Order: sequence, then C-alpha cells, then structure tokens
Amino acid sequence: MKRTLALLDQSRAALETCGYCPKLCRAACPVSEAEPRDSLTPWGKMSLAWFAARGDVEVDRDVAATAWACTGCFSCREHCDHRNEVAHTLGAARAEFRALGLAPAASEAVIAGFEAKRRATSDSLAELAREPGVSPTADTALLVGCGYATDHPSEARAAIAVTTRLFGTVRLVDGCCGLPLLLAGDRAGFGQSLARLTEQIRGAPRFVALDPGCALVLAEHGAKTLVELAATRLDAFHPVPRLAAYAAVRWQDPCKLGRGLGIYDAPRQLLSRALGRPPDELARVRGEALCSGGGGLLPQTMPEVAGRIAQRRLDEHRDCGGGLLVTGCASSLTSLRGRGVEVADLVTLLDEASRPSDG
Ligand code: SF4
Ligand code: SF4
Repeated sequence: MKRTLALLDQSRAALETCGYCPKLCRAACPVSEAEPRDSLTPWGKMSLAWFAARGDVEVDRDVAATAWACTGCFSCREHCDHRNEVAHTLGAARAEFRALGLAPAASEAVIAGFEAKRRATSDSLAELAREPGVSPTADTALLVGCGYATDHPSEARAAIAVTTRLFGTVRLVDGCCGLPLLLAGDRAGFGQSLARLTEQIRGAPRFVALDPGCALVLAEHGAKTLVELAATRLDAFHPVPRLAAYAAVRWQDPCKLGRGLGIYDAPRQLLSRALGRPPDELARVRGEALCSGGGGLLPQTMPEVAGRIAQRRLDEHRDCGGGLLVTGCASSLTSLRGRGVEVADLVTLLDEASRPSDG
C-alpha cells in the first residue's frame, strides 16, 4: 500500500491547485530565477510535495530539499489567480519531511543552534536595556527580534530611541517568535517558543515589533510594526540634511512588510519626511518587488542561490542609478550589505529624523 502523508489532507486544495496549473507564476519565483530548474518553480515544488504526499514518488533527500528552496517571499501568490499559499504549504511539507528524517543538514543545524542563538539574543538585549528610555515596567513592549539584536545592534538601538520618542518608555521583549524553528520544520519547538514570547507581552497596551517577519508571525497577538506606528506620527520626523548628498535614496520593499503585511505606503511616507521629498524607487516595487534572498532559511540551505538573489536586487538598484538603498528588515539587511552597495535600515534614518534639533 502506498504511504501517504498527512500533508495530503491538510493542504490538498493548495497542492492540487498548483499541480493542475499551467505554471502562471513561473517567472515570479526568485529561487527558480536564480537556479533555473523546473523542480524549483513554485509549480515544481508544490507538485513534488503533492506527489510525495500521495505516495506517488519515493521521498528522498533530493525531493525533500525542494521544500526548503523557498524564501517565503509571497511573490508567487501575487501572480496566482487563486492566491495560492505556496510558502505556507511548503512549510507544512518541511515539517513532514523532517519527521521522516530528510531535512537538509543546514536546516537541522538551525534547530540545534537555536538555544545558543537565544542566549546570544538575551545577552545583546541585556546590553540594549541600558539605553535611555528602557524600563522593565513600561506599557510599551518592543520586540527588536533575534536578527536585529544579534546581527544589527546599532539598528536595534535606533529602534529603541525612535520608539521612546514616539511612545515614552519601552520594555524589551526577551524572546523569539520561533520563526526559525517553524522554517526548519520544527513545529513543536516553534509552538513552545511562541508561547514563551506571548506570555511576556500578555496585557501590554502596545506591542511594537521592529522586524516585519516577527510582526507577521505575531499579528494575531497584537504586534504592530514600528514602521506603521511611526507613520501615524509623521510630524515627529524632520528632514535629515546629510541625505541630500546622495544622488538617490531608494526604498526596497521587504517581502514580509510589503506582500506579507500589505504595508507599502508607510515607509515611503516616513522616508519622504526624512528626505524632504518622495524617495526614489527601484524598477520593481510594492507587490512586484524582487526578493532580497534572505528569508525562508535559504541563506543557510542554499547560500549561493541566496547570494545570487541578493545580487539581482542590487544590480537593479545600480541599473536605476545607484545611491543609498534603504530597507527595513534584518534578513534583507544581512543579505544586501557587504556587496559593494551602501545599504541603510529605515530605522536609523528615523532615529536621525526624530532627534530634537540643536536650535
Ligand atoms: S501558485 Fe498559483 S500560479 Fe503558481 S503554480 Fe500554484 S496555482 Fe499556479
Ligand atoms: S514564496 Fe517566493 S520563494 Fe517561495 S515559491 Fe513562492 S515565489 Fe518562490
């Protein structure tokens, strides 16, 4: 008898929709654009998951690996008449393949290193707690996220400064929403991490998330991005004179903020305040924006492909005339920086734009 996977019942509609589809979103996927293989198109990945779930193909490491060939950018959904949730379904497939012992080693390493990363985040947050305006009893809870806390602490500091100027004292949330575990197929670990974090923010009148990836996971727990909250207080921001030196200052829509949360105008309104004019644009913007390659654990599981995706976005920026590229998520920052283009996080510009003027 054929062995079927629970995925078949849980995600049957999504799998069948892709399986019978003429691949309309083919050109939308950053992974298959960077690594042109039919099996890496959204259709290819979903079809393989479907065949595996039905027991029609032998599930081995190669088949399983295709479920990890996704940044979770939602671009295929934007190009799909059915708005099919490919990333979500591939996430469910990861959990099943992992249960069969077929997860990529790099993904398993994320799970194995999760607690060490958590401790590193806690250590970094202990440092950040010395910043002015941080108080453990504050009403406003601020989650800077593991990516900012460990890899981009100066941006995390800027977020504390901006949030305290807008809303008064903040308390730092010392926890992880568990997204890395979810992406690695460890659903139980994800649930535990999420529960620990939501316990910390229970009853907080205001829950601010710096990273849109965290905000997307925690939306139903009341998380709002700092960007969307700051855009309700545009008068708190003034032009930053040094930005006039750049030939262009371009906004790069992070996938989780844009296609994920539907927040496209707020960062542009804020950048307009910091620039004193509307920001410059890349060729592909908003729902059509190119992914930066930093999500879905792709930098861990397929680092060369992730690098090519990031380079494609930077090439687009250069082709548009270069200048300063501004983004707003820790994964994008990590992906785009260090490749010969000056990349800033919006929150550092907001910090400068909200400082009290000397005069
Ligand atoms: S996501 Fe939509 S357009 Fe893309 S293969 Fe699936 S059903 Fe077709
Ligand atoms: S969510 Fe993005 S990376 Fe994943 S399959 Fe769709 S287009 Fe490709």
